[in-house]
Amino acid sequence: MTQTYDLLIVGGGLVGASLAIALHGHGLRIGLVEARPLGDPGQPSYDDRALALSYGSRQILESIQLWPQLAEQVAPIRQIHISDQGHFGCARITADQEQVPALGYVLPARQLGRVLWQQLHQCHDVSLLTPAQVTSVQHMPDQVQVRLQQGDRTSSLTTRLLVAADGSDSRLREQLQIPATGWDYHQIAVVASITPGRPHADTAYQRFTPFGPVALLPHRAGHCTLIWTLHPEQHAQVLQYNDAQFCAAFQRQFGYRLGVLQRVGKRHSYPLRLCRAQQIVAQRTAIIGNAAHTLHPIAGQGLNLGLRDLNTLVDSVLAAQGAGRDIGAADCLSQYQSVCQREHQRVAQATDGLVRLFTSPLRSLQWARNIGLLAFDHLSPVKHALARTAMGL
Ligand SMILES: Cc1cc2nc3c(=O)[nH]c(=O)nc-3n(C[C@H](O)[C@H](O)[C@H](O)COP(=O)(O)OP(=O)(O)OC[C@H]3O[C@@H](n4cnc5c(N)ncnc54)[C@H](O)[C@@H]3O)c2cc1C
Repeated sequence: MTQTYDLLIVGGGLVGASLAIALHGHGLRIGLVEARPLGDPGQPSYDDRALALSYGSRQILESIQLWPQLAEQVAPIRQIHISDQGHFGCARITADQEQVPALGYVLPARQLGRVLWQQLHQCHDVSLLTPAQVTSVQHMPDQVQVRLQQGDRTSSLTTRLLVAADGSDSRLREQLQIPATGWDYHQIAVVASITPGRPHADTAYQRFTPFGPVALLPHRAGHCTLIWTLHPEQHAQVLQYNDAQFCAAFQRQFGYRLGVLQRVGKRHSYPLRLCRAQQIVAQRTAIIGNAAHTLHPIAGQGLNLGLRDLNTLVDSVLAAQGAGRDIGAADCLSQYQSVCQREHQRVAQATDGLVRLFTSPLRSLQWARNIGLLAFDHLSPVKHALARTAMGL
């Protein structure tokens, strides 16, 4: 028997699960297809990375009623400190200057995932199809027909709108023959929790070093998450280090602003690349989150951008639904296409530009960025404009 949905989301990661929650309760029949079993500790979207959520993302999470469950778990970022190793320039952005309670918030992806799945279980109009994989997709004029594999069972589904939210290596994007472009940064990010020698005072640190950028994000419990970007040869060496050697090596890059760093946790590695879908809309289909754009984490923008995708798509779908129009029709998706494609281009270019500027070995560029950091710290309007952009406002 064929199951009929209004909306079928493929990928129950941070963006896909949030989208299902955002759209529930509006009279739509929603299916959520996820490759991993429910509660699987190896679910790749809900791992131990720390996410810096912008103030704008908080507003989106508030609008979909998720913020109350998260508010007690997040650590506020009240100050961002940016520096360049071996140079005197540094810049600070503070929540007080920007007149907001916090510039952003830090939350482990695992905790966000837990809240999302708890919430999904209470959404009676969302069918959780998991563990499952889409095996084929066929477009009809008024619906999309999807074959689904769940264990040794195959079933047939139809939907008016199909959403690809299955991450960077989106299989659905491939099945739809939508090309993706980008490049490998030949860098690997190492993520681990670390205990600072001094209180972090709700400060997020971003430091540029000849070996690549390092960042420290504050946590509620007093510890921090470090993100250390390395070339593959350095990465191989760093992974050999025991805890004390690792702390000492990271300290040499980060300096002593937080005292002597101690007690490092398990290290996790992420190869970094840029990848963008060449189109984010196809017939009765929208591509969202990392399936549409995978960015370098240097500016912590990936999920924030994915949540903005979600927000625009939700507006389009609910406007069409409210007006009694077809939610999968081209005119419903054109708004998503025009708003988000431009935004993806802007954020991908800015992020890639930052990676190039701050990893360049050219002396002239090193001086330019050092002077840039100093000037930035003293130019209030520029700083304010950049802070508002980083906050997703
Ligand atoms: C080191 C690091 C640090 C980061 N820090 C930040 C930060 O501070 N701030 C920020 O905004 N962003 C950050 N990001 C980016 C952020 O993690 C991603 O943007 C976010 O996880 C994207 O979520 P997603 O749901 O689109 O994709 P994913 O997280 O990749 O989820 C995809 C989901 O689809 C499922 N799936 C895959 N294939 C299939 C299939 N064939 N069928 C069904 N389901 C499938 C997967 O199991 C998974 O659940 C960081 C990324 C890295 C690597």
